[in-house]
Amino acid sequence: MALDTSTRNAFVKAARTRGWESVTRLEYGRYLVKSATSTATYVVTGTDRNGTDHTCSCTAAINGRMCWHRAAVVMARQRAEWLKAKRRAELAASAAQAAPVVTVPAQRAEAVLRFGGVEYRAEGRNLLGAIGNIAQQRAA
Ligand SMILES: [Zn+2]
Repeated sequence: MALDTSTRNAFVKAARTRGWESVTRLEYGRYLVKSATSTATYVVTGTDRNGTDHTCSCTAAINGRMCWHRAAVVMARQRAEWLKAKRRAELAASAAQAAPVVTVPAQRAEAVLRFGGVEYRAEGRNLLGAIGNIAQQRAA
């Protein structure tokens, strides 16, 4: 499906002016878009990813024409999705780096410590845990 001229012009204007930066998300399917030429702010509503169900409170849209405000919202939403996916990928990459290489087996380990003529023994989930349990015995 080819874009009609007014729709294409709206997207070109939104891209040239970085229209997504003029968009504030109010809630799902409801956005504020700052006018490029005045202090006016328009309300764009709609949930369709491609913007086909979007309406805008500006004069052009009320007169049935495509406006760049709707194009800006479509771009802002797609940009937000792209940023979210990028952040998820970065988090997954850093989590993979931080993940331990060795997993601790869920088995018992025993530690024996001879100190001052006394033998201390303790069990733990692993050697470090067993040593920790000996330390607690000594403190007691
Ligand atoms: Zn508009």
